[in-house]
Amino acid sequence: MDIECASCSRYACQVGRLDATPDDCPMRGPFPSFDELYATDEAKRLLYQAARVEAEGYGRWTRIREVAELALRMRYRRLGVAGCPDMGLEADLAARSLRRRGLEVIVAAPFADCDPVGQAALLAEERTHLNVIAGMCVGHDALFIRHSRAPVTSLVVRDPRLAHNPAAALYTRDGYLKRALYGVREPPVPGRFDGWTDELIDGLAREVRDAGLGRETPPCRIEEVMDFARGAGVTHLGVVYCVGFRREARDLDAILETNGFRVSSSCCKTGAVPKTTVGIKDEEQVEPGRPEMICNPLAQASLLEQAGVELVLLMGQCTGHDSATMAHLHVPAVCVVAKDRVLAHNTVAALYGS
Ligand code: SF4
Repeated sequence: MDIECASCSRYACQVGRLDATPDDCPMRGPFPSFDELYATDEAKRLLYQAARVEAEGYGRWTRIREVAELALRMRYRRLGVAGCPDMGLEADLAARSLRRRGLEVIVAAPFADCDPVGQAALLAEERTHLNVIAGMCVGHDALFIRHSRAPVTSLVVRDPRLAHNPAAALYTRDGYLKRALYGVREPPVPGRFDGWTDELIDGLAREVRDAGLGRETPPCRIEEVMDFARGAGVTHLGVVYCVGFRREARDLDAILETNGFRVSSSCCKTGAVPKTTVGIKDEEQVEPGRPEMICNPLAQASLLEQAGVELVLLMGQCTGHDSATMAHLHVPAVCVVAKDRVLAHNTVAALYGS
């Protein structure tokens, strides 16, 4: 069964209506067991604390504040911050902001050249408890996630065209960015993809980065993601997204399909598991008095892998829920948008304004 949550017209999972799911809903087939996916106390704790941060700061806390709150609640006292060399300012600002909240922070950026594997190794030596991505090239984030020993969360998504505000591409897709996103390009060629290696990921990340540097108008993040996938011969993409991004997920899906990719997508509420299952009380929900479902980041990852996706695009998960997905995936994952409910997902604005 293919997984196409981005095309769903019902979102019955969000309200726990298993009787109202569409015919092609993944919940109608064999579904990954919640108890098996979250068998460890640590997995349950991360799910619980990320949901508590979401509810307490809903619409009031910026992404950077949410990252700090999650770290404090998870007792992740020692944080790593990593970014590619041209994101040194953003990495420093992120570190300062996290330190102001009482956290110990090691910055693994900037290096002279992109070195996500080296950064992951350095932070492992420093025994960080959580690593924060403060802007990496497409593909270098995938390598960093692959090699990080600590859980990873996405804070800033590097976007050379849109001042690191990649969500803006989706909001201007029918205007200024129309040509860039829907312009005629060579479609991906089936049968070329031959699996991932670190060398392939690194080489492609550099190619895409350098091609962008050579252009008068640099590409936006979504263009870079497509170039990266195309370069690898990937034809089947997976999108992991938050239900709050349902419109954006549908738009991203349309852009990717117009460019010749096959797309599978999984929404965070898939599984329709009530928040009470992980011990969240009614008064601890975003909206008390109504049934709320817990985000299910491991099922999102499992469903996409079962569907056979070759590259995963991360869009707008809660901090902590993204960490769970990244740790669970075997397929490389690249960041497309980090969520910020205060700043219309322009996470970096909180850093520049601090
Ligand atoms: S899991 Fe939710 S969003 Fe996905 S198809 Fe089912 S009801 Fe729709």
